[in-house]
Formats: sequence, structure tokens, C-alpha cells
Amino acid sequence: MLGLMSNKNLLISSLIEHSSEYHADTEIVHRVSNGNIEKTNYKETNIRIRRLASALTRMGIKLGDRLGTIAWSNLRHLELYYGISGIGAICHTINPRLFKEQLIFIINDAQNKILFVDLDFIELISEISNEIPTVETIILLCAEKELTKLHKIKQKVLAYESLIENNQTLDKWPDFDERTASSLCYTSGTTGNPKGVLYSHRSTMIHTLAAANPDALDISSTDVIMPIAPMFHANAWGIPYIANMVGAKLVLPGRHLDGESVYNILDKEEVTFTAAVPTIWLMLFEYLDKKNKKLKFLKRCVIGGSACPKFMIEDFHKKYGVEVIHAWGMTETSPLGTVNKPLRKHSSLSQEQKYNLAIKQGRPMYGVKIKITNDDGEALPHDGKAFGNLWVKGPWICSGYLNMTNSDVHDENEWFLTGDVASIDQDGYMLITDRVKDVIKSGGEWISSIQIENIAAGHKKVSEAAVIGVKHKKWDERPLLLIVKAENVKKDEILDFLKDKIAKWWMPDDIIFVEELPHTATGKIRKVELKKTYQNYFVNPHKESDEN
Ligand code: AMP
Repeated sequence: MLGLMSNKNLLISSLIEHSSEYHADTEIVHRVSNGNIEKTNYKETNIRIRRLASALTRMGIKLGDRLGTIAWSNLRHLELYYGISGIGAICHTINPRLFKEQLIFIINDAQNKILFVDLDFIELISEISNEIPTVETIILLCAEKELTKLHKIKQKVLAYESLIENNQTLDKWPDFDERTASSLCYTSGTTGNPKGVLYSHRSTMIHTLAAANPDALDISSTDVIMPIAPMFHANAWGIPYIANMVGAKLVLPGRHLDGESVYNILDKEEVTFTAAVPTIWLMLFEYLDKKNKKLKFLKRCVIGGSACPKFMIEDFHKKYGVEVIHAWGMTETSPLGTVNKPLRKHSSLSQEQKYNLAIKQGRPMYGVKIKITNDDGEALPHDGKAFGNLWVKGPWICSGYLNMTNSDVHDENEWFLTGDVASIDQDGYMLITDRVKDVIKSGGEWISSIQIENIAAGHKKVSEAAVIGVKHKKWDERPLLLIVKAENVKKDEILDFLKDKIAKWWMPDDIIFVEELPHTATGKIRKVELKKTYQNYFVNPHKESDEN
């Protein structure tokens, strides 16, 4: 017997319908490329989104068409999220920081018909314009009068604002199967080509409902929320959807993400909740320290994308009174998989014990299941000690990749092999020890590069640290530590600092001081590049640094 309840499809358009009706005058604030801050609200934005949707329909865009965006986190990008998906087309967010070859591959693989491009990327798009044959139209995210710039784009070029101005608003959002694809985002592809992760309305809606919960990101209508995680990477961690569901004031920071710009907008707009990768906070901390500033309004900060070092959790809490919510996810997981929130029983822990708990990547949200296995596929215990290959499954976890019929990372029971190595404790708290390809295999034992670099990063004279496994005649691989100094420091000081915090055989065989570390387009340390540069460091005799 079936239940007698509405079968209304869970569609993304329902979010904007809700916010424009019940949170009509709640502000949306966005910083435009010249640095100015502009303001609107949910009602006005909904009207513009309906005009965009009407324009796209009149241009012949149909269910399933892939429309690409190359844009910062700004108002027009938000409108595209909703306008494109709302009519059943697919909003394909493209990371502008990828290599040109990757961009071309992604646009062709997705067979984008239209690209919506911020003016800042006009040169980029001109350079690849000849190599993206499926793209018929480029819509520059600007007003008609800004179109005068010279460019070498071979496709038809339109101004976004003309599209909005010259169109009526869409009367009614179309209804369709909630399993329809809504958006598309490619993985960063540090090895091989990027892979297309295709989200559905259903997966996005369920993820949104789950992510706003108190035991997840804990976002409500009383918050002012600012995703710094970009809108071109894993849906800005779902925050643009959550904003409309709960009706929180939304702040979109645009392209200015240096310490001073982030501080100014946090302070001016009274942001209470934000989310970003650790590198953003390093820049903010440097600015706050230099200018002796405090964070008056910020209450919670989600950190993910890379492991959050312990000192960052401590500094946020002790110096600025901000609670860090450490979370783990992937493009393939929409992206939230686990979130670190303490349980009731943890209230009696000492502050130090609470920090030690907070460095874990957290517990699965409702809907997500996780497990770890050894290389033979056998399940490992959840005892907080054993670590192995991490698998995940749930209604917002990908079940395959676009245009790929065979996937070697999905099994027949819908488990997805993440490529991460982790341990899981009795309460389900997961600790990521490495990416499989980064784990250091020394004499048959595994060493966690993440754990060593997090401890090293906690030294006051260290600004950033990376640990890589480097070829070694006797042990196969040994750890090499690379450090960007915050101030002058000797190797021995760092080694002394590590000594009682890690096992003896985990101690790096050497330390190299570097000016900077290479980062991927999504803010992770580019270890592939470091390994290439230093692969023979322990094999060929090297010159001792005179800083030793
Ligand atoms: P992406 O698909 O680009 O978002 O990258 C996903 C990968 O980022 C994961 O598989 C992890 O290796 C890494 N990652 C994400 N969040 C964390 C975290 N909190 N700690 C450690 N690694 C993380």
C-alpha cells in the first residue's frame, strides 16, 4: 500500500520560490570585481532568475542541455545556479584556475552549448575559443555597455544584462522528475583527465536538507553566511542552496580573497558563518595579527578541502572565539560527507581533548555511510587505530561519471572508493591520514604525511608545511618535509618540535626550506609536482643546506 502523501518532485526551483515568498526582504550582498559592494534581496533576485529562465527557454534551451559558467562567487553566478537548473538544464560550473588543456577537455566533454563568463576571464575564453566547437554562444556577465572590450571570441557574444532586461519573467517553474540532472562539476584531475560529477535535483535537495542541520553546518535564518569556497568548486559546499532554504542573509565575496578583503567583508556585513580551505585562513590570520584586529561577528567556520591543522582550530577558538567545524567531502559527495560536531558526552572533556577531537574530519551526516578496507577489500575495524581505503555511499554520493561507462571506483553495492586513507573510531569519527597516492610506504609500513605536516604547521615559525614520500634505497620511501618559514628557523628546532609528537620512524629524514609551496586550483598542496622535483633527493647525494 502506498502512502497518501504528495509526490511533489524535490526540485531546486522550490528553494528560490520559498526564499522569495518567505524571506523576500532578506539581503543578498555581493562584491563586484572592482571591489564595490552591492546589495539586493531574495525577492528581487528571484525576479531576475525568472527573467533569465525565460530568456534561456526562448533561446531554445531544453531539459538536459549543459550550460557552462566561468565565474567568481557573485550574484550573477547565483542567478545562473537557479535559472539554468530551474528549467531542467544543467549548470556546469567550471574552475577557471585549471590548465587551459583541462578547460578545453571539460567544455568539450560536457558539450556545453553556452558559456557564461565573468569579464575577468575574457582573455582566457578568447584563447580557447577556437577549440570548443560545441559552444554556440558566449554570454559575458556584464551590461551591454561593457561589451566594447576587444576580444578574439569567435562565438556569438551577448551581454547578460540585456538578456535579463529584455525578457519577461517566467510564469511558472516547470515540473519534471526529481532525478533529472541539475548541475555538473569536474574533479580537479591531479592525475589523468578530470571526471564529470553529475548532480541531480533530488541529490542536491536531500544534501541541502541534511547540511543545514545543527549537527552538520548548523545554518539558520538568523545567520549571515558567506561561502568563500568558490561557486565553481563542488557547489560552494552547498551553501548557495542552504541560504535559500533557511533564508539566511547571503554574502558572496567575489574574487577578492586576500586577508584584508576577507576581513573587511566579514566585519562590514556582520558575517556569522563562513566556509573555506585552510589556506584562506592562513592569509586572514596573518592580516589579523599584523593589524591587531578581532572577528567581532563570526561564530562558526567550516574548514575542509584539506586537513585543518590543530593550531588553526586553537587560534580560531582562543584568539577569536570562533568555533571551527572540520568537515570532509569531495566533488563526488556533493560535497559534504562527514562533519565534526562533538557529542553530548564530550562536554566533560578538557579543552585540549576537545581540540584533539576537532582535528578529526568528523562523523557521517544522516544518509551517508562510511567504511574502511585493506587492499584485499576486507573490512577493517572502527577502532580509531586501523587505517585503510575509505569507501562512502549515500543518496548524494556519485554513482558514476559523465561519459564513462565503466568506473573502477564504484562497486556493485553502490559503495564509492574515495582514494583517501582513513581510520574510523567507535563513535564514527573519521580521521583522514592521506590520499592513497600520498601515503608514505616506508619498509612496508605506512606513514601519514598529513599528520606530520599538521604538527609541523603548528610550529610558530612555520607558515606552511608539506611532507612527501621520497625514494630511499633501504626503506623504499622516506618522509621529506618542506617548509615555508613564517620567520627564521633552523632544521633542528623543527625536528625537536616533532620529536615527542610522532613515532621515531615517522621522523622526516630531512627538511628543505622553500619560498612557497605549489597549490592546485582548489587550494590543495600539489604533491605530484613536489614528488617530481624531489624524487631522487635521498638517492643522489645532495648539497646540505647551510641553514642546518
Ligand atoms: P575535491 O574533490 O577537489 O573537493 O577533493 C576531495 C579531496 O580533498 C578528498 O578526497 C580529500 O583527499 C581532500 N579533503 C577534503 N576535505 C578534507 C579534510 N577535511 N581533511 C583532509 N582532506 C580533505
